[in-house]
Amino acid sequence: MKRIIVLLLFLPLLGYGQRDWSAIEIEVTELAPGLHRLFVANAVAVVVSEGEDGILVIDAAYEQSTDRLMEEIRKLSDAPIKYLINTHLHFDHTGGNKVIGKDADIIAHPSVREYMSKDQQRGENILPASPEYALPNILVEEPMDLLFNGENLQITHLPDGHTRGDLIVYFPESNILVAGDLLFAGYFPFVDTSQGGHPITYMENVARILEHFPTDVTIVGGHGPVFTHQQLQQWHDELNKTFAVVQEAKARGMSQDEMKKQRILRQWEEMGSFFITEDQWIDTLYPFL
Ligand SMILES: [Zn+2]
Repeated sequence: MKRIIVLLLFLPLLGYGQRDWSAIEIEVTELAPGLHRLFVANAVAVVVSEGEDGILVIDAAYEQSTDRLMEEIRKLSDAPIKYLINTHLHFDHTGGNKVIGKDADIIAHPSVREYMSKDQQRGENILPASPEYALPNILVEEPMDLLFNGENLQITHLPDGHTRGDLIVYFPESNILVAGDLLFAGYFPFVDTSQGGHPITYMENVARILEHFPTDVTIVGGHGPVFTHQQLQQWHDELNKTFAVVQEAKARGMSQDEMKKQRILRQWEEMGSFFITEDQWIDTLYPFL
């Protein structure tokens, strides 16, 4: 089992191959009564609210993990899935929309609908546009409240961070914040500059989360373990230090290649062990500092 988990750590990097998706691990953790985190393949987090109003799901993980995900959701409840929220457009958060969102209202930023409506180039493959029933039909740009299962969910768009259309979802009664990929807990984050993301705005958006939510909030990121407010602060602080190191080296005239060769971010090598490596983090920051 350990070996499977270790292999699956690299899922976001490896694509699909001949993986046996029917056997992937999904770790289910209760965050609060009726609220669970389903950690798919030790890589991507899905959050499920179940109760008197039915089921609400935040993020749909990979297309290939959908059957396993549905299996785990059905262990929690047989009720209909009323809402699916996509925190942003990436395939590891929207891949399951066709099944999870089939009979649900799908809530997302307009960029998600726009992106999924077109064929997507992925490496050498073309992923066809999604059918209408898998596309978001409730589009959020301004803050939106949604009463569901006894909570007044607060859905907020934080622009131009991980992508141009990142949503965060707060459950005030449970004091749980689902932050999507504005949190790669413990790791260098992926900032998708091809989809409107920006590393400086990314950091500003994390700072807004730190300011806005209570210090005893529990934060579920798209990747990595569940974080406390203090852990989020520490992660933000460490990332800020890496910005300063790259900025200072650039100001001295050092090239990206020299920074990598000298491993100027060696001190944060642990943060490069999930998806974005030390070198990729230098490449992310360099053009913007
Ligand atoms: Zn993402």
